Amino acid sequence: MSVPLIDISRQHSALSEQLRNVFATHLGSGAFILGPAVATFEQQLASHCHSHFALGVSSGTDALVLALMALEISPGDEVITSPFTFFASAGSIARLGAKPVFVDIDPVTFNLDPRKIEAAITGKTKAIMPVHLFGQCADMTAIMAIARKHKLKVIEDAAQAIGARDHDRPAGSIGDVGCLSFYPTKNLSALGDAGACTTNDEALHKRMAMLRVHGESKRYYHDFVGGNFRLDALQAAFLSVKLPRLDSYATHRRVHACRYHELLAKLPITLPQAAEGQHHVFNQYTVRIPGGRRDALREHLTQRSIGHQVYYPVPLHLQKCFAYLGHSVGSFPQTELACNEVLSLPIFPEMTTAEQDEVVTALRAFWS
Ligand SMILES: *Cc1c(COP(=O)(O)O)cnc(C)c1O
Repeated sequence: MSVPLIDISRQHSALSEQLRNVFATHLGSGAFILGPAVATFEQQLASHCHSHFALGVSSGTDALVLALMALEISPGDEVITSPFTFFASAGSIARLGAKPVFVDIDPVTFNLDPRKIEAAITGKTKAIMPVHLFGQCADMTAIMAIARKHKLKVIEDAAQAIGARDHDRPAGSIGDVGCLSFYPTKNLSALGDAGACTTNDEALHKRMAMLRVHGESKRYYHDFVGGNFRLDALQAAFLSVKLPRLDSYATHRRVHACRYHELLAKLPITLPQAAEGQHHVFNQYTVRIPGGRRDALREHLTQRSIGHQVYYPVPLHLQKCFAYLGHSVGSFPQTELACNEVLSLPIFPEMTTAEQDEVVTALRAFWS
């Protein structure tokens, strides 16, 4: 039996009638961009994330760019982030002309290591962008303490972590702004690109709302230079169908993770762990294969049609576009080791027990 890394069509066939109704309504209404469907979703999302405000935007990447713009991150400023993340985290910083300053990760959680942050702070540092990788929050207690001490803004890249909690605080509600992605592989997914910015700061929310529509204060009056970061009404309405089911999706992911944990316990691999006080929602189930055998295992899984992926094979400090930052192999050893050892296994709410058993059998066969 082949097992997909993710199969979003199962979620959609279970919701087929509701999603078709949404489409039919919007086709008839002719209201396609922002409007009441977006406003409704924003309210639902804010309440789900325990944030005062939520703003629907065009993608997770645009959420990051918009947050940085609203916080007035400018050329010459430095923003601390992780080199072990999807490109958009550092890419958005660089797009504003600011400098991404990388800090190595904690090898257990794959998140920014707070013990290494202070050494990277300079007179130009304006903000910290922790990334809640794979569905687990970075150590926000430590990060917020450092940010307060040095008067830095905090932008949470919570693209992979909606529903995760750090000591009962929802991902995205802890820093100045939380940035979410609803890309189809994320825990809450649209039927295309979509994202959101959450915040408790009303002035910041208003500024982001203006920047989302080219900095307009009213139609055709522009107070700032913003962009087109608008969310489609159709995507918002699709998201409103799924949001009430998000907690149940997360429960299924956590049950699968628990089962992997039991069934894979005897293999010579490192299994993902939730740190103390962390509620992990397993956007990915990412194991480490030490001893240089990761790529051989990938080959073995490919032969057996078991979906898998390496998130991420190349650390951001070694990407061609960031060569100007002057890093080399050895700059961030924990990140580089993770890139060589990680492997993400199938985990999605609708995955069956039989499929999970197939993954486990294939893994066991590799070491037998
Ligand atoms: C997916 C993702 C993004 C970008 O989101 P898009 O909606 O694809 O633009 C940013 N950061 C991280 C960590 C992500 O996983």
